[in-house]
Amino acid sequence: MRNPIKLFWFAIFVLLIFSTCQNKAEQPRPGYALVIHGGSGNFSVDDISIEKQKAYREKMKEALLAGEEILKENGSCLDAVEACIRIMEDSPLFNAGKGSVFTHEGTNEMDASIMVGSDRKAGAVAGVKHVKNPISAARAVMEKSKHVMLSGSGADFFASENGLDTVGTEYFYTEERWQSLQNFLQNEKKKELDKLGTVGCVALDKMGNLAAGTSTGGMTNKMFGRIGDSPIVGCGSYADNNTCGISFTGHGEYIIRTVAAHDIAATMGYKNVDLKTAMTDVIMIKLKSIGGDAGAIGIDKNGDIEMVFNTKGMFRGYVKPESAPVIFIGE
Ligand code: ASP
Repeated sequence: MRNPIKLFWFAIFVLLIFSTCQNKAEQPRPGYALVIHGGSGNFSVDDISIEKQKAYREKMKEALLAGEEILKENGSCLDAVEACIRIMEDSPLFNAGKGSVFTHEGTNEMDASIMVGSDRKAGAVAGVKHVKNPISAARAVMEKSKHVMLSGSGADFFASENGLDTVGTEYFYTEERWQSLQNFLQNEKKKELDKLGTVGCVALDKMGNLAAGTSTGGMTNKMFGRIGDSPIVGCGSYADNNTCGISFTGHGEYIIRTVAAHDIAATMGYKNVDLKTAMTDVIMIKLKSIGGDAGAIGIDKNGDIEMVFNTKGMFRGYVKPESAPVIFIGE
C-alpha cells in the first residue's frame, strides 16, 4: 500500500475499529445476576415454622433487592456481594454476624472471605470475635492490607483500625443459638437445624465482573480456634471472570479437603464443561463420596445461575433483570 491517500484511509479505518472495540469493552452490558444462600442442611421446609419461613423469605428478599439496586445502577459486583451479606449478617436468623453459633466453649468466632474475579484479589478473616460485619473486614483485608487472610485478635484490631464497627462479645449472644449449643452438649447428634445458616452471595455486574463472598459463625459446638472453609479462598469462596463465582455452605472440613469452590472453576476451565456440570461433579460426586454434606451457589461468566446441594435443603434465592426475586427454602 504505497499510495498515501489509500494509506491515510486505511489508518482511519483501523482507528475507527479500534475505538469501537474499546468503547464496547467499557460499556456496561444489559445483564447482571445475583444469587444468595443462607445455609444448607438435612432439613425439610416442614421443620421450620410458617412464621420463621416468612421471616427468612423477607430477609433474603431484602438482601437480594439491596444487591440488585447496586447492580442495576451499574454498581460493582463487589459492592453488591458485601451489601447482601451485611444484611444477612445483621439478622439473627442466619449463622453469620449477629446470629452466629457458639463454640463448645460458649464463644462466637466468625469467618468470612470475599473475592473478585477480574484480578482474583481476595481477602479473608478467621476467628474474629468483635467485628460486627466480618464480610466488610474481609473486604478491608483485600483492599487495605498487603495480606489475604488475617485471623483472631489481629483481624479484629485491623478492622477497628480501618474504621469498621466493632462490638462487645455480648452483641453476638442470641438465646436461640445458646440453646442450640445446650442441645448439642446434651446430645452430640442433635438436630440439623441447630447448625444452619451460613450466608453467601455471588454477583455478576454489568461490566462482566464476578465476585463471591461467604460469612459464617462456623458450626455449633466447634472447638475454639477451629477454622472452617468459609474464609479459605478456593474452598468457601472463589471467583474468576473466565469461569465462575462460587460460595459454599456445609460441613467445612469436607469442603476444605476437596478445595471445592476452586475445583468447580477448575473443572469448567480444564474440561470446558458448563457450570451445572462442574457443580454437580464436585458436590454430588466428589464431596458426597467422602461423606461431605454441602451445597453451593454459582454464576458463570454469561450470567447463568446454579444452586446445587447434596443435603435435603438449602436456603437460596436469586434475582435477574427479567425476574423478581425467587426464593427457596427446602428441597
Ligand atoms: N461451612 C461452614 C463451616 O464449616 C458451616 C456451614 O456452611 O453451615 O464453618
